[in-house]
Amino acid sequence: MRIDSATRDQLQAWEKELSAQYQRICQHELNLDITRGKPSADQLTLSDKLDGILGGEYRAGDGTDTRNYGGLDGLTCAREMGADILQVPTAEVIAGGNSSLTLMYHAVLTGYLFGFAGNTPWREMKEPKFLCPVPGYDRHFAICEQLGIGLVNVPMTATGPDMDAVEQLVKEDQEIIGMWCVPKFSNPTGVTYDEVTVERLSLLGKIANPGFRIFWDNAYAIHDLEQQVNLPNLRTATIENDTVDCVLQFASTSKVTHAGAGVAFVSASPANLASLKQQMQAMTIGPDKVNQLRHSRLFPEFSMLKDHMKQHAKILQPKFALVLKHLGDAFGDSDLGEWEEPKGGYFVSFDTRPGCARAVVKLAADAGVKLTPAGATFPYGKDPEDRNIRIAPSFPPMEELDTAMSVFVLCVKLASVRNALES
Ligand code: PMP
Repeated sequence: MRIDSATRDQLQAWEKELSAQYQRICQHELNLDITRGKPSADQLTLSDKLDGILGGEYRAGDGTDTRNYGGLDGLTCAREMGADILQVPTAEVIAGGNSSLTLMYHAVLTGYLFGFAGNTPWREMKEPKFLCPVPGYDRHFAICEQLGIGLVNVPMTATGPDMDAVEQLVKEDQEIIGMWCVPKFSNPTGVTYDEVTVERLSLLGKIANPGFRIFWDNAYAIHDLEQQVNLPNLRTATIENDTVDCVLQFASTSKVTHAGAGVAFVSASPANLASLKQQMQAMTIGPDKVNQLRHSRLFPEFSMLKDHMKQHAKILQPKFALVLKHLGDAFGDSDLGEWEEPKGGYFVSFDTRPGCARAVVKLAADAGVKLTPAGATFPYGKDPEDRNIRIAPSFPPMEELDTAMSVFVLCVKLASVRNALES
């Protein structure tokens, strides 16, 4: 099906046929959901050994009684795990509670209220702003929106954010004080930043406001599907370019063990960690070290963690393959949509023809298939071209995903044809 070369008669015939198919599907009263990237029950079960793993032995290797108060930085063995995941030194890692998003929130708050490493607090600026590679992660945007920090769109490319745009914006506007990045298997496009992008990012510290910080949310650092994908090390690049203070890195075990009961990590230069800890120490005496120890016992070596991720990949791989097969079969030879083929992470990002995404999501919802709201992958919920839809294959069982994708492709076809007939 090619819309651009179709005649009006053809479009009308397609509309009739697709509408009839759609009406038939609506009669099935489906109730399916491919919205958020949650691990499936099978994936969660992979880590059920966490329950009871301590067997009453609460002392960590260094003698810490994990049941008691204390240790703002987290247990050393947990920090080592974070260091392995982020490929940074243990001394530069704090192991926290269950959520990296919470750590990101606190990091933004630290910059906003107090400033990092002696720099001006962002709240004292007229219009502090973050750069947001789009499409991106809605919860990043929500943090800034809540604090009144402005959001500036930067297009994503197949190798990372459009760095010409990033450099120009950062140079011209010294009130750009942050940038969100999901550098590996980005949410939602699945793209991993390449060497040149990482190098250019590491140089932003030379041209941006001295308080500028890259929020390097490496949520999918070890979430490869089949082939292992290498993300160039941003910390190393910043050391070479003398810009170490411009980066804060985050990760967690949310999509490794139990999503709601994992361990989160933040890593940064000593100056940034000191600023973070100054804020954190008023807020907590320390994190849940018992849970940190449970994680260290489950994965005493990084190689065991990597093996565990292969079990996840075994469950996820067929689901990604199924989504990509539906898209390839339906749109491989068409002008109805574009998508990347991610090698890991949790999402497949689909771009419809301009002006169709909202209509697709509405048609799917009316047919009983819940999709992430159109626009959610953009700041303020506004996709300027109304194109992007995030597909999350992980949670539903295969049969449900299969049905949901059949409905999805039908809705894309129907919305595209109707849009062409209207214009
Ligand atoms: N960052 C990204 C990019 C994510 O996709 C997610 C989960 N969807 C998170 C952070 C949330 O991480 P956590 O569970 O550690 O708060």
